[in-house]
Amino acid sequence: MTVHRVSLTVESVEAYFDTVLAEGFRWEPDQGPASGEPRSPAVVWSPLVLELMEVLEDVTLHPPARDLCREIGYHAGLESAAALDRARDPNLPKAETLLAMPPILAGTGFGTSELVYDDQRERLVWVFDLGTVIAMASRENRPHSEPTCAFFEGLCAGWAKGSLGLNLRISETDCIARGDRICRFQSWLLPG
Ligand SMILES: [Zn+2]
Repeated sequence: MTVHRVSLTVESVEAYFDTVLAEGFRWEPDQGPASGEPRSPAVVWSPLVLELMEVLEDVTLHPPARDLCREIGYHAGLESAAALDRARDPNLPKAETLLAMPPILAGTGFGTSELVYDDQRERLVWVFDLGTVIAMASRENRPHSEPTCAFFEGLCAGWAKGSLGLNLRISETDCIARGDRICRFQSWLLPG
């Protein structure tokens, strides 16, 4: 059994961009990552991203909006992981492409996180110690009775599919927006 793990600090995110993505990104200390040429494969957003921003505006608990957030996240994760995988050394373990997700998200302002993937049980646990950026904003806005980070559920499921080829259901079990200490996501393997 191998348990794959990535833990982030500000220094490690900067080092990551200096090494792994140096050809696709410039790291601007004051502004975070800036795309260079050729276009980075790490930022491949769904064409629906503008709709995402609209539905995130205080309606994330509305069931259709949650589903749309999750779906947009799924496609963003799937396309990003697939593009990243194509750009990387084919001999690298597929899990490396999965582990690239937290530093890329942290570098693009979505929050720092730790992801642990157990490749024998095919389960992952993903934790944002300070919450995701969406939950931080939701918490500031008003109290919530449900987790607010459906976009991240979809993003993680899509990234797992694009990197490992696994069909996972990702559920947010803890969310700072409803008063939990952290945002935590866990996976269940889907049949097929
Ligand atoms: Zn959350």
